[in-house]
Amino acid sequence: FTTKAGLYTASDQIVILTPDNVDSVLVNSTAAMVVEFYASWCGHCIAFSPVWKSLARDIKEWKPAMDLAAIDCANPVNIPICSGFDVKGYPTLKFFHAYSKADSKGQVFKAFPRDVRGLRHKLIDLMETHKDPWPPACPPLETASKVEIDNFFDTNNVEHLALIFEMSNSYVGREVILDMLQYENLAVRRVLNTEEGLVTKLGVTDFPSCYLYYPIFGIFFQKTCYSVYHCNLGDSVRKMLTCVCVCVCVCHIRSRVYMADLESTLYYSLRVELAAHTVIKGEALSALQEYFTVLVKYFPGRPVVMNLLKSVATWLKDRKDSELSYSSLKDALDNTAEVPNAALPDSVRWVGCQGSKPHFRGYPCGMWTLFHVLTVQAKEAASKDPQEVIQAMRLYVYYFFGCRECATHFENMAMESMSQVGTWITPVLWLWSRHNQVNNRLAGAPSEDPRFPKIQWPPPELCPSCHGVKPTGEHTWQQEEVLAFLHTHFSSEHLLSDYLE
Ligand code: FAD
Repeated sequence: FTTKAGLYTASDQIVILTPDNVDSVLVNSTAAMVVEFYASWCGHCIAFSPVWKSLARDIKEWKPAMDLAAIDCANPVNIPICSGFDVKGYPTLKFFHAYSKADSKGQVFKAFPRDVRGLRHKLIDLMETHKDPWPPACPPLETASKVEIDNFFDTNNVEHLALIFEMSNSYVGREVILDMLQYENLAVRRVLNTEEGLVTKLGVTDFPSCYLYYPIFGIFFQKTCYSVYHCNLGDSVRKMLTCVCVCVCVCHIRSRVYMADLESTLYYSLRVELAAHTVIKGEALSALQEYFTVLVKYFPGRPVVMNLLKSVATWLKDRKDSELSYSSLKDALDNTAEVPNAALPDSVRWVGCQGSKPHFRGYPCGMWTLFHVLTVQAKEAASKDPQEVIQAMRLYVYYFFGCRECATHFENMAMESMSQVGTWITPVLWLWSRHNQVNNRLAGAPSEDPRFPKIQWPPPELCPSCHGVKPTGEHTWQQEEVLAFLHTHFSSEHLLSDYLE
């Protein structure tokens, strides 16, 4: 035997099984696993591998409920594993239920399809045979009745419900349910054309079709978000319906400001970013005091958070030392026993700032949002100093913001135009226009989350009246409208408190 590289690599969205990981992947997994046992010398396996890779890409959103794996039985180190699973020919596909035991040999697929669509349907069939315990991340795949839908929001804590109406031989409803399982604010259920009560109530005539339920407004077919998310309507019905559902989630999340993001930003800034500075002194210490000053004055936080910010701000102001060690700041942040009812959340939870991958968005999104909120709050509180908040932001970013290149760029913008704030431009509009300048520079950069493209903000979908056209045909911002929009969007009344601990 010679050891050969297998047919799959780490970038294929397929778990590559080895003697080291086989138990941890297959035994007691919270997701069902589907394993291809193959031999890298076998012509059929070589021919099948592009299909297995395409399937893995096609159903990557299903991972929390069902994941794909592969093992090269031609590799001598893997032979005991393959024979232990009674694999005699290649390729063999086996389905392992979630929470499989160590002695499980998996369920063999007999005569499996050799195309992505056929395999996808086969996986759904197998998933439907899944006995308890059901994979916890997998939503129900069975059809919903009118009674269930009528009482849906009494028993489910989501903001939107999408119903896929379809014929009994259609798989699209189950596919969309699985495609959407990672979106927390939207549930998808499938309803058959024979569910007459619902079909009549909504006047459904096309199968498949998608209806979106808004608890406040009642049921209607949502089309308005297409232009934001650019659904490719020429694509398959499944992709189109999934896209409609994603639109709703993205539009919904994008268009609101969440307190959970603001508190997560405070957590990260105070407990992670500042922790990189063992000793803080001189201008950096003044910058930190300014940061706390504007937080205490303008952060529209819950009483428990405000109590903590106030107690730390007072402690910082009253200290006589010219140097501050982070450990003493941490003690002050932790010292909640002496200040009743004062605390910060003890972890981050991104909602509006949640990226589609862990390395996208999160903290920098929260930082922008925090300072937009603070500039608007300062205006509402009739602050006498127009530069107060943006100077505090400038100094925080300059001394502490972990992305040093960002800090340099921001400082350059501040040197260029911040002096005009209070005379030619209001702080709210200055920050908005500088943020758009950054968006413009970063459009298409590797740090851009493909699900949240860097656009000139707010887009027409959020604020149609913010956009105008010059006689020459060029786009122009209607600044009065933009200002009014920002004041509403970042106002404390408009902040959502969902997802707080
Ligand atoms: P963000 O740009 O972070 O925006 C967050 C949210 O604010 C958006 O979802 C939207 O709801 C809203 N928003 C968007 N535009 C505006 C606007 N004009 N006015 C008001 N609200 C708006 N990254 C780099 O790669 N290079 C840099 O030089 C750089 N400089 C930065 C400087 C600062 C001060 C900060 C805080 C971040 C910087 N970043 C930089 C990070 C980058 O700007 C984004 O924050 C990050 O890529 C995450 O992007 P996002 O899609 O979450 O949207």
